Amino acid sequence: MDNVKPPKKPLIFYYILAMVAILLLNMLVMPMVSRASVQEVPYSQFLQQLQEGAVGQIEIQEDRIVYVTLKTEEKRPMFFVTGMMEDSNRLAQRLEQYPDITYGKVIPQRENTFLNALLSWVFPIVLMVVLGQVIMRSLSKKMGGPNAMSFGKSNAKVYVAAQSGKTFQDVAGQDEAKDALKEIVDFLHNPQKYKDIGARLPKGALLVGPPGTGKTLLAQAVAGEANVPFFSISGSEFVEMFVGMGAARVRDLFKQASDKAPCIVFIDEIDAIGKKRDGNMGGNDEREQTLNQLLTEMDGFDGGKGVVILAATNRPESLDKALLRPGRFDRRVPVELPDLAGRVAILKVHAAKVKTDGEIDFDAVARATSGASGAELANIVNEGALAAVRAGRPAVTQRDLEESVETVIAGYQRKGAVISPREKLIVSYHEIGHALVAAMQKHSAPVHKITIIPRTSGALGYTMQVEEGEKVLMSREEALDKIATLTGGRAAEELIFDSITTGASNDIEQATKIARAMVTRYGMSDDFDMMALETVNNQYLSGDAALICSAETASRVDAEVLRTIREAHEKARGILRENMEKLHELAKFLLERETITGEEFMEILGAR
Ligand code: ADP
Ligand code: MG
Ligand code: ZN
Repeated sequence: MDNVKPPKKPLIFYYILAMVAILLLNMLVMPMVSRASVQEVPYSQFLQQLQEGAVGQIEIQEDRIVYVTLKTEEKRPMFFVTGMMEDSNRLAQRLEQYPDITYGKVIPQRENTFLNALLSWVFPIVLMVVLGQVIMRSLSKKMGGPNAMSFGKSNAKVYVAAQSGKTFQDVAGQDEAKDALKEIVDFLHNPQKYKDIGARLPKGALLVGPPGTGKTLLAQAVAGEANVPFFSISGSEFVEMFVGMGAARVRDLFKQASDKAPCIVFIDEIDAIGKKRDGNMGGNDEREQTLNQLLTEMDGFDGGKGVVILAATNRPESLDKALLRPGRFDRRVPVELPDLAGRVAILKVHAAKVKTDGEIDFDAVARATSGASGAELANIVNEGALAAVRAGRPAVTQRDLEESVETVIAGYQRKGAVISPREKLIVSYHEIGHALVAAMQKHSAPVHKITIIPRTSGALGYTMQVEEGEKVLMSREEALDKIATLTGGRAAEELIFDSITTGASNDIEQATKIARAMVTRYGMSDDFDMMALETVNNQYLSGDAALICSAETASRVDAEVLRTIREAHEKARGILRENMEKLHELAKFLLERETITGEEFMEILGAR
């Protein structure tokens, strides 16, 4: 904020410039102009010209004589002025000798009043304004920013169909969101259909969902499909250094929009201005004024006019209630993380942009990326393409994609990392410990891959489990099995080396998270039945939860979490003890190969 230069400075600067220019013009240029037209000459020259008969009209003023000559080389009349002399008394007699001379005002009145004023004041001002505009425009173009002079202008980018270049085809999955938006587009195309029935379309629709799920993309697709003007602005663009500016921008935006109706106004990241107003002193006045203006404007225009407001946010819970009430954003369009089919579709959309080699099993990639957002999937495809280039291959293969899934999950392979043989052995047993516990339980996802190649994320190895189909619910058994699997690595270390390492820190974190959620949010513990002990703060971002119980309960929660993990740990140790030979055999195999597939793992396990 402190670094933002107030745009006032150029304004004042510009007016000073204009004033200086006008003064200069008056002091230097204007006298030259008038001197050029009315020439001051000595009295002797006047007498000479009189004798030559060159003087046409003459005007005798109090202390000077103004006259005009006729017979000169130049075509236009020349004006002269000369002072009175002592012999002026004889002037009358002299002049009588020349009957051709006429008497009267030589220089017309307007010469030194109206035209002068026009020339010396109005014209320069007009000139400076025009010049100023040109300069400011070229300056702002150079800076790439909005016009510095346009206070309170909304700066909304206006898209028309051809410019966004995105259509609904670019958005894979998200069918519900697309349907909701298609209806809006359809309304803008033929409002009569809706009017006939008496249906009123929502004034606004709010796209909510985690980051990277395609909210902005959807809005761009609407712009591409709608064939109507599309104003796009980001919430943060409203918030300015000057109080009142944001409100002015909102006003301007809606004014423009209603001029161009039917049209769509898209406010991205609306939480920047739409945050809950609170009664606290010292709140953000500017933001609240902006929000108030937005609320007023949304009430102000009538929905039949054909202005539809779209907004996107990943923090819907932080939005002001007034913004969400019917009549404003009365429709809420969830844009959730893609399911299995959605992920396959998104992968296909992005894979179509790169050269692929033969058939790629998108289903396998999609199953390995449960919980990934559209943006992450797009990134996976791109990483795959980069890997293909690095390897000097002309097209992306299935291998590339699978490798890039791991890159996105765990970072790049650290091929040069030096790890001592003993540590490598520990990592081997640790990973096989996870895999073995997973394989021996009924409710665990199948092991897909085990590797002990270190990654840039710091992981020394990992076990990848991939669900066979799409999972939306997690049962209590599955949760418990998952915790047991997570403790399997440490359990193997304990049993084999009789010592423990720091390698299990991530396992511990994850196991605790699941166990705690089971107790506090999923009602999966015996003690608390269906009592909510935590609330999730912002579900689409960090997903942080806050305890909403008394301190005593909190300590009981801790005890319950500990008990859950301890039991799972004990279970994992039991499983490994029972399968000790397999543990040795598999760990040796993994140490040799560094990476083994789920099939290889199951083969050895199955050959009892
Ligand atoms: P956000 O929801 O955070 O606004 P974006 O719309 O900016 O996410 O999505 C970022 C990128 O992720 C898009 O440019 C696109 O490449 C990719 N993406 C996200 N969702 C999808 C989807 N459903 N279909 C295709 N690509 C998607
Ligand atoms: Mg976005
Ligand atoms: Zn582990």
